[in-house]
Amino acid sequence: MSDNDGKKTLGVRGGPRSGNVKQSFSHGRTKNVVVETKRKRVVKPGQGAAGGAPGGGGKSARSSDPSKRPAGISDSEMERRMKALQAAKARENEEAEQRESEERKREEERQRRREEVEAKEREQREAEERAKAKAEEEARKKREAEEREAAKQRGAEAAAAPPAEPQQPARPQPARKQDKDRDQQRQQPRGKGKGEDGRRSGKLTLNQALSGGEGGRQKSMAAMKRKQERARQKAMGGQQEREKIIRDVQLPETIVVSELANRMAERVGDVVKALMTNGMMVTQNQSIDADTAELIIEEFGHRVVRVSDADVEDVIDQIEDKPEDMEARPPVITIMGHVDHGKTSLLDAIRNAKVVAGEAGGITQHIGAYQVKTDGGTILTFLDTPGHAAFTSMRARGAHVTDIVVLVVAADDAVMPQTIEAINHAKAAEVPMIIAINKVDKPEANPDKVRTDLLQHEVIVEAMSGDVQDVEVSAQTGQGLDDLLESIALQSEILELEANPNRAAEGAVIEAQLDVGRGPVATVLVQKGTLRQGDIFVVGEQYGKVRALINDHGERVNEAGPSVPVEVLGLNGTPEAGDVLNVVGTEAQAREIAEYRKEKAKEKRAAAGAGTSLEQLLAKAKEDENLKEMPIVVKADVQGSAEAIVQAMEKIGNEEVRVRVLHSGVGAITESDIGLAEASGAPVFGFNVRANAPARNSANQKGVEIRYYSVIYDLVDDVKAAASGLLGAEIREKFIGYAEIREVFKVSGVGKVAGCLVTEGIARRSAGVRLLRDDVVVHEGTLKTLKRFKDEVSEVQSGQECGMAFENYEDIRQGDVIEIFEREEHTRTLD
Ligand code: GDP
Repeated sequence: MSDNDGKKTLGVRGGPRSGNVKQSFSHGRTKNVVVETKRKRVVKPGQGAAGGAPGGGGKSARSSDPSKRPAGISDSEMERRMKALQAAKARENEEAEQRESEERKREEERQRRREEVEAKEREQREAEERAKAKAEEEARKKREAEEREAAKQRGAEAAAAPPAEPQQPARPQPARKQDKDRDQQRQQPRGKGKGEDGRRSGKLTLNQALSGGEGGRQKSMAAMKRKQERARQKAMGGQQEREKIIRDVQLPETIVVSELANRMAERVGDVVKALMTNGMMVTQNQSIDADTAELIIEEFGHRVVRVSDADVEDVIDQIEDKPEDMEARPPVITIMGHVDHGKTSLLDAIRNAKVVAGEAGGITQHIGAYQVKTDGGTILTFLDTPGHAAFTSMRARGAHVTDIVVLVVAADDAVMPQTIEAINHAKAAEVPMIIAINKVDKPEANPDKVRTDLLQHEVIVEAMSGDVQDVEVSAQTGQGLDDLLESIALQSEILELEANPNRAAEGAVIEAQLDVGRGPVATVLVQKGTLRQGDIFVVGEQYGKVRALINDHGERVNEAGPSVPVEVLGLNGTPEAGDVLNVVGTEAQAREIAEYRKEKAKEKRAAAGAGTSLEQLLAKAKEDENLKEMPIVVKADVQGSAEAIVQAMEKIGNEEVRVRVLHSGVGAITESDIGLAEASGAPVFGFNVRANAPARNSANQKGVEIRYYSVIYDLVDDVKAAASGLLGAEIREKFIGYAEIREVFKVSGVGKVAGCLVTEGIARRSAGVRLLRDDVVVHEGTLKTLKRFKDEVSEVQSGQECGMAFENYEDIRQGDVIEIFEREEHTRTLD
């Protein structure tokens, strides 16, 4: 019996095989194995990550996992990670071996001591058992003597029990005695390790559980086991706990390291360490992608719950405002109308009239919006950026800012194309309109013409017994301004505009810029809640903490409620007009959302532009270092031209120089093309295509050269010359203007005539023209006519309207752009 016991004890401590010893008893004792496994783990974490073979195996299994699901990971990235993992594994194995040998020595030492103690204990136990057996024997004899009749039966039972099942009744008793002994005698220093105590008691308890089998006892065993388990966890530190509490970790596309640690309830330091072992050198404030985070989460033994796009933004409070929380808010007004009908003048007139009267000093600050108070006491918020572009771009970005549109129509000009456009915008946005018939001071003013003109566009003003308010004003004399403001106030009353000021703020960016002294500054129109100094927010792809709020008088304020425009300082970057600002709980959340949005935007751009990443291009360029390369980016109108150009480019070059087409594609030159070109110092070639406006600006800023061609041979010749350093002077085109086709008329005898607005530069009768549709050249030729009003003119300036007709070309459409160019001598700059 004692031999058996000793053997098992040895087995348990010696290694995992001890499980087999116990299994050999009977089926139900497979529990033993579980306990052995735990014990195995207990040893390892105590010594750090000395995983040895099993740990390493686990990692390699994990490392192969992501390769099966390479969502979002590029090959090179994967390879890099795999390498890092392998290196880490190798390192770990080495360390593990070292630790293992140390551990083995220590374990041997411990084992020796344990054996000594156990030998002593065994002796005692045996002595006690002997004494007990003796006592029992005596008692039995006594009983036998006292009750002769029952004695036979009992005697048989008592006699049969011990030899038939020697372990069962005997073992629990010595076990308890052993504990008692330990407590009473304290013969062995406890400092040997509580873990060892725990372990030993664990084993004994288990035996008891196995041998006992009675319900009551089992229960107390379980309790003891739990207690011991807790004690062991405590002694072993955090690692054991990690294996115990498996968490579901919500994982967005990207996550800040500290937030990841937070979600796993692990120490940040441990997470950073784990990342380093995986070859990622990051600090706790940096963010990592979901795939890397997944490795880490699995390594810590938690479960990954990938959250979808919308979930990341879930932290933004989606509060349903209760009706009782709502309070009246000022209306927000946008002024729209045709160019030169007096939008700016009207905005200025209102502002000056009201601000000077109401404010001490009357110093105004242009922040993109301002508030005025009507004589009736209503506060109105005017957006200071007139025009349709601002209105539509805001709408396109999901910021529904405007409550009321004031449509300015000059009484001397009546309804014009942009007036109609404005009507359509307002209708599409379902925003009520108020018609301001402007310039009534002018002698030629004819307000009634305006009213009747509007009828044609289904705008029936009150004067024509409709329901659209109309007010005659003069921005110049100030006539009718108060009436206009009262009309707006009335309209806003009808709208019953309300917002809950007591909640996390939400607002829209009216304008934003990078200020030299103050950093990124955004004017935000608060729409819900109240924005306060110190609030943490996310705005578009940016985030920040409100450092200061400045109102439209240039004064610092502590807070801004609904419909109040304020300049917000404390952004990490410059957002765009129309971006929505949301106050969130923590900076980590704000950053997570912002970075997620940035990533999404990047993906979108990449999808729209090239299929190749910059990294891949750079990696390829590095492959052959000896060869000097001239990188170029090519955009063409059709696939066929693009292919022809790429083929021609590949033929250019000799041993020293080679032309490398970084990217070729079909369609307008975009910002992403410019970014690519800038990063590799490449020029961009447009073949019958043009750069869109953002790309043009970006190219100007970054100094990227864009060259346009309409003949492939010209393009090839230029590149050839550049590659061999032979660029001389050339005849080059210079764009002198752009005009947008607003309307197309059919004029008998002339054909189709384009009603245009010169948007940039100048339109010249003698110049060459190209017709661009979606930034692609659809026609090149000369002008047949250039008309301003009814007269043929030689030039039309930017901002003016004109009529144009092409020589021998009729396929013109509204929205097309006319490019006006001249040829001039130019020094070649291609490098
Ligand atoms: P916007 O292009 O719609 O912003 O128009 P502006 O505000 O720039 O005005 C265009 C021109 O019309 C300017 O020369 C103004 O001085 C003039 N203007 C604007 N409002 C009035 C007005 O009420 N009366 C007169 N006589 N001229 C006006």
